Amino acid sequence: MTARVTESASDRPVRVRIAPSPTGEPHVGMARTALWTWLYARRMGGQFILRVEDTDQSRSTEGALEHQMEALRWLGLDWDEGPDIGGPHAPYVQSQRLPGYQSAAARLLESGDAYRCFCSPERLSALRKAQQKAKRPPGYDGTCRNIDPAKADSRADGGESHVVRFHVPDEGTTTFNDLLRGDITVNNGTLDDFVILKSDGFPTYHLAHAVDDPAMGITHVTRGDEWLPSAPRHVLLFDALGEPRPIYVHFPVILGPDGGKLSKRHGAKSVIEYANEGYLPDALFNFLAITGWALDDHTEIFTRERLIEVFDLADVSVNPAGFDGQKLEWMNGLYLREMPEAELSELFAQRLERELPADVPRPLDRMFVESFTPLIRERVKLLSEVADMTGFFFQPEVPTPPAEEILTKKWRDRAEDAADALAAAVADLEALDGWVAAPLEAALRATAERIEARPGDLFMLLRVIVTGRSVTPPLFETMEIVGEEPCLDRLRAAEAMLRDLG
Ligand code: GLU
Repeated sequence: MTARVTESASDRPVRVRIAPSPTGEPHVGMARTALWTWLYARRMGGQFILRVEDTDQSRSTEGALEHQMEALRWLGLDWDEGPDIGGPHAPYVQSQRLPGYQSAAARLLESGDAYRCFCSPERLSALRKAQQKAKRPPGYDGTCRNIDPAKADSRADGGESHVVRFHVPDEGTTTFNDLLRGDITVNNGTLDDFVILKSDGFPTYHLAHAVDDPAMGITHVTRGDEWLPSAPRHVLLFDALGEPRPIYVHFPVILGPDGGKLSKRHGAKSVIEYANEGYLPDALFNFLAITGWALDDHTEIFTRERLIEVFDLADVSVNPAGFDGQKLEWMNGLYLREMPEAELSELFAQRLERELPADVPRPLDRMFVESFTPLIRERVKLLSEVADMTGFFFQPEVPTPPAEEILTKKWRDRAEDAADALAAAVADLEALDGWVAAPLEAALRATAERIEARPGDLFMLLRVIVTGRSVTPPLFETMEIVGEEPCLDRLRAAEAMLRDLG
């Protein structure tokens, strides 16, 4: 079998693809592969293609493709050709491209690069067991290689169930190039005669890849390095089909912080979950871009535009990067803080509309949300925290918290003192003209001094009563937004409750 490499991929305009199988949720590994691939396409002025690899129908799951597309769109990755928008090489769903695979298999049968295999599943499983027992590597033993092709054809025509296998040369080596790793050579003896067409007429992943990537003019095949062991099979197929080999770039996996397999335990979730939890697409984009790729030894924050200018596939690290969930959270906080205030406030409002209790009337007053946005923007790391931090602003009545919540630390077992402190605070607040944060603070600092309480102790007491919670935005601004009457009502009610205890 001679290699027939016709044309070098590096001479052609860049066309790259993401080729998800519609199974499970769109995880961060797939998202990173997609975004590095997209960045490269955009940098080179090339095309980014979405192709659905659904030839293993038993693995496909309902709704998976929609989730994958939703995840890519949310990250801002747009494709130039794909199942939803079509393109010059439609269809972009492999299960709709069966004739192409079948004719490629027929060509390989014709040239002697492939043969029909009639071995039954029982025989193959017995073979596997025997190989295991003898501690030999598993693989097909080539039995059906010896069937006369004309006989094999007539058995197939007679309806006998079979697969088509690629005839891997017994001798010699196969060498292919990976952009990150250089030349890789394997002994052909380590590759068995792998299946290219299954008995149901569907191609295996190997054949579908070797047919579609050249058919779609793909120049660079970017994918996770779990596919590295398959690459020699793929180049054998390309060569046998007389198709140009693509440039291969196998990305190292993302590891968990402990060096093991990345899992949910490490904060790695589906992209959709990140969206739901209130991560910003720009932050996740930036984070994934630098998980395994670096421009230099210190730059971490990149806009998309900057990444498009500087990202190169060749600079991806060949060592697996660890997933650092804390860094992602930090980065998200940073992106939130740097966002123009009006935009951030709108995001807060949308998030609150989704998460506040149903009895809070919608749409929310945007001016009102804008009034507290500056108070929390420094503290929010995730949009999902906003409802918890500010929900009390939307509660017309904050019920008086139970005494044990009010009487924290300094006031414990001192209900009477706490009631006196509240009475003093209320008196000073009533004497105020207007209801603005700075004078509120001045008045309450004076109260604390007069009653000989530590300001922090008095403020905590007020905070819990006014908001119903112990962690809130800054107290005086919060009191200003809650308003004079609700604040004074809540303080008076708490005072009465504490007196009753005494
Ligand atoms: N369908 C493969 C997957 O599961 C894609 C492999 C490739 O990109 O060649 O991710």
